[in-house]
Amino acid sequence: MLTLSKLIDEDKCYETIRTMRWPDGVCCTDCGAKNITKRGKHATYSARQRYICGECGRHFDDLTDTIFAGRHQPLKTWIACLYLMGLNVSNQQIADELSLHKDDVHQMTSELRQAVADKRPEVQLSGTVEFDEVYVTAGHKGQPEQVKKKGARDADGKLERASGARYARNGKTADLRDDSARWRSGD
Ligand SMILES: [Zn+2]
Repeated sequence: MLTLSKLIDEDKCYETIRTMRWPDGVCCTDCGAKNITKRGKHATYSARQRYICGECGRHFDDLTDTIFAGRHQPLKTWIACLYLMGLNVSNQQIADELSLHKDDVHQMTSELRQAVADKRPEVQLSGTVEFDEVYVTAGHKGQPEQVKKKGARDADGKLERASGARYARNGKTADLRDDSARWRSGD
């Protein structure tokens, strides 16, 4: 059977990883030095280049210290999985496309999502934080589909707008009682 992973070039995947992690040339994963010598290819994956650092002597390869290191599946399978995740494809569909077991795909997508989440910088809020308007579904009066379609727009009084709540006013914790979260019209 023809599968997506058979169409993907493993060499191209490694090339992409190298360009992404070392846009200005290979650096040591330990000390950051640029004095690097190539040291042959990986025993199993022939596209995977190995290196040695001329400064600290560290041995590493294209995938060292990345989420793709030490994996059972070849790099192209992981790249294809990431690509399909970007298309919002289900784990079952990914499993079918890549000839994998659904449980393995579940494990892969969970780990990839976690890795993306870990990379995301934490949002730091400080001082006075305000948010402006918030929409709350107050009831659909027997027409849930209509409300869903209209989204955040005023669905004939079914969606009510609350005015801005203020957090950390004068450096204190949230006080939502004064001018916030009031219904615009009673329901
Ligand atoms: Zn080094």
